[in-house]
Amino acid sequence: MKKELPKVVIVGGGYGGIIVSKQLEKILKPGEADVTLINKHNYHYITTQLHKTSAGTSPDNRVALNIPDLLQKNKINFVKGTVYDIDFEEKRVYLDHQGALEYDYLLIAPGFDVNTFGIPGVDEYAFKIRSFRNSKSIHHHIIHQFKSFKEDHDLSRLTFAVAGAGFTGIEMIGELVDAIPRLCREFDIPVHKTRIINIEATDAILPFFDKKAIDFTKNYLKKHDVEVMTSTKIVECKRDSVVLDNGYSIPCRTLIWSCGVRGNRLLEKLNLPLVRGKVEVDEYLRVKGMEDVFCIGDAAHSLDRDGRPHGATAQVAIQQAQTCGPNIAAVLRGQPLKPFVYKHKGTVASIGSRAGVGNVFGLKITGLFASFMKQIVEARYLFILGGPFFMTKQMLKPASNVFMETAPTRNK
Ligand code: FAD
Ligand code: NAD
Repeated sequence: MKKELPKVVIVGGGYGGIIVSKQLEKILKPGEADVTLINKHNYHYITTQLHKTSAGTSPDNRVALNIPDLLQKNKINFVKGTVYDIDFEEKRVYLDHQGALEYDYLLIAPGFDVNTFGIPGVDEYAFKIRSFRNSKSIHHHIIHQFKSFKEDHDLSRLTFAVAGAGFTGIEMIGELVDAIPRLCREFDIPVHKTRIINIEATDAILPFFDKKAIDFTKNYLKKHDVEVMTSTKIVECKRDSVVLDNGYSIPCRTLIWSCGVRGNRLLEKLNLPLVRGKVEVDEYLRVKGMEDVFCIGDAAHSLDRDGRPHGATAQVAIQQAQTCGPNIAAVLRGQPLKPFVYKHKGTVASIGSRAGVGNVFGLKITGLFASFMKQIVEARYLFILGGPFFMTKQMLKPASNVFMETAPTRNK
């Protein structure tokens, strides 16, 4: 009779889940375990580029990669499905319309959900950069506004507001600065009829950066006629306007909500130890109190040596995956696990394709060089994912919007 192999199930094929899959592909010998990756879609999207997809400034095939092409089929099984529950007693993962999968060891890596703070109208009318599909729907909506303006001349269609001036908000604004003038040319609409507005509740933009980077960003945005409204909180989003705490309303049909993230809402159903919506993990990235369940990435609440939580970044998710993969293999082999130690390499924020700000290995950078560094960071991820040949192939392949048809549209 054929020996039953231990089953490893990975939930979520984002940065965390895909890199753990790649690690297990390399580490495990044939016949050591039966590994299955479950992801909502059959593609892995590069979350750090979703603002480009939203603005339409990057081709789809640079952002969304077919998962079966990334994995060795004889080593990792792939299931396209959405997990809606997990039974930790029975060791079963339940999928929408697809029954259940049993596991011996489980990795939970479903990423983030967008924080809306219960602000009225945000769930209904604001757009969120949450997934590739969400981002495509933002792009479709922007195009629809340009087309509709040609018919009804309603200026609220040409006002594009971004909520939050953290990393995501500023990166999104930077892409709009690139995209809107191009769309104006395409639809033969004068640029001066458009408005790009960034609305931030606190008195600061990019709060984690130094003064030089903040001043550079402010000047860049001013030069490109972006209206930055700091100390201004959005209190409601309507179908055709955004309501501010200073009593004013902005006529606007596009509000892109980038006011922070929280753990994926799936986690709330699972009866696990949560801190601010994220799963508490130990130093080995196992869920607190569990020996056979790991959690990494934006879903995990992990602490550094000083007891501070790690940030919700791709850099953290990738490094956690590089520890978690070997730890899952170690559990299977009955070997000791290694603690996760995060090494911060720096931070770079792009402001469109020609500018950025950053701090890399202690070096403060701004402008075109920072934008170039951001591309190096993205290339490095492709290298980690598939090696030098894959990286080069991915970077040189002709642009294509192959996923265009699968994205939903939501016009207003
Ligand atoms: P994700 O990358 O979000 O992946 C989660 C995966 O799980 C997805 O494929 C999703 O489809 C799948 N999934 C979710 N729920 C289920 C379910 N129920 N069943 C099955 N599958 C499911 N960080 C940086 O370090 N540098 C940056 O420059 C940077 N830029 C960013 C730009 C933007 C616009 C955004 C939104 C974030 C950025 N971040 C950046 C943060 C970074 O993208 C996240 O920290 C990172 O994606 C977390 O990785 P993850 O694997 O935990 O989750
Ligand atoms: P964030 O929490 O960094 O910023 C959200 C901003 O929204 C804050 O400045 C907050 O004051 C503002 N805000 C909240 N409520 C508001 C309201 N009602 N009206 C107006 N403004 C409001 O979140 P983010 O920018 O979405 O980033 C999420 C995570 O992704 C972070 O961990 C970040 O580090 C990471 N990220 C990193 C990069 C990068 O490294 N280049 C890029 C994007 C995202």
